[in-house]
Amino acid sequence: MEKSFKKMMSGYQAFRKKYALGNKSIMRALSKDGQKPKIMVVSCCDSRVDPALILQCDPGDLFVARNVANLVPPYERDGARHGTSAALEFGICVLKIDHLILLGHSQCGGVSARMAHKTMKENDFISSWMSAVTTDPLPHMSLDDYAKESLRQSHKNALTFPWIKERVNAGTLVIHEWYFDIKSGKVFTFQKDQGAYVALSEGPVAQKDSTL
Ligand SMILES: [Zn+2]
Repeated sequence: MEKSFKKMMSGYQAFRKKYALGNKSIMRALSKDGQKPKIMVVSCCDSRVDPALILQCDPGDLFVARNVANLVPPYERDGARHGTSAALEFGICVLKIDHLILLGHSQCGGVSARMAHKTMKENDFISSWMSAVTTDPLPHMSLDDYAKESLRQSHKNALTFPWIKERVNAGTLVIHEWYFDIKSGKVFTFQKDQGAYVALSEGPVAQKDSTL
């Protein structure tokens, strides 16, 4: 068996032991009581950016939607199959989460594809998906700065969903723009008042004012 598959299988054993065995296991309790996460994360499919792992959360803590480049598309009721929008609706309207974290990251392949869209090879879905980022990169903008720009855009797009806008305005939902630097393993949060990212542990975790 190949090494990474073997590692995964032993991870499964460890998961079972830690979370699922015994009468008082977390999984048993979550099965009985259902899930009640208060935090939703939109993160990238990138294998280096797993929100539950980075934040050391347990099952039931985070409601997560992962997609290429952690985008929130605009609100479009056009009958197409909008996976991320459906996840947002479930998280916000059904689970009534209190925090929506948009988790961007360094070295993002999706953002890189959007940056190079004019020279990119034909593909079936990636370019069309990445067109949700409508602002072009400024000249000499780095890939990582463009990833932060696309986070801004996702935040703006999130506010085009009426039930998100309503809850943000009512102060019952806070939207965070977080950026994960793969090399240092650090998370940075965008501080609107400073117009800059600060390391998560050094700044306030929640922004009260999430309007743009
Ligand atoms: Zn990515």
